[in-house]
Amino acid sequence: MRGLAVSLGSMHAMFKASEAVMKGSCLCGSIQYDIKGFSPGIANCHCSMCRKSSGSAYGVFGTVALEDLTWVKGGELIKEFTSSPEAKRGFCPNCGSSLYFKLLGDKTPYEIALGTLDEEPNHPVDANIFFASKPGWSASYDALPSYDTVRTQ
Ligand SMILES: [Zn+2]
Ligand SMILES: [Zn+2]
Repeated sequence: MRGLAVSLGSMHAMFKASEAVMKGSCLCGSIQYDIKGFSPGIANCHCSMCRKSSGSAYGVFGTVALEDLTWVKGGELIKEFTSSPEAKRGFCPNCGSSLYFKLLGDKTPYEIALGTLDEEPNHPVDANIFFASKPGWSASYDALPSYDTVRTQ
């Protein structure tokens, strides 16, 4: 019986390992989160609000169910900006990192800003949304020379 208990224990350990969480954080590290996984569908959002909020060509957001997200550190520090009558955006007040987009309501999922993830997500980015709002200067990656670090030419 002892052997059985040990093997069940190790099976349980293996199962736990396969449920490994993904970690994320803001630029200054004041805020850290764990997520169990993204729901299918991670999108580049080219709307003007995501552009302003990220300070970049587009925002990249992945849906995470409420029960799959844990604020490990600094959750109480998060500031929220109501960016439209329907939604708010969370950010770090210390470093300004955009953390999430969330439709108003207690039960709506988080749309986590993928740039704050510290590892690879469990789904690929699979869509461009609000593509009609894409500004002319926002070029596709394929059309540009690419450098591993700084520009050398
Ligand atoms: Zn921060
Ligand atoms: Zn957007």
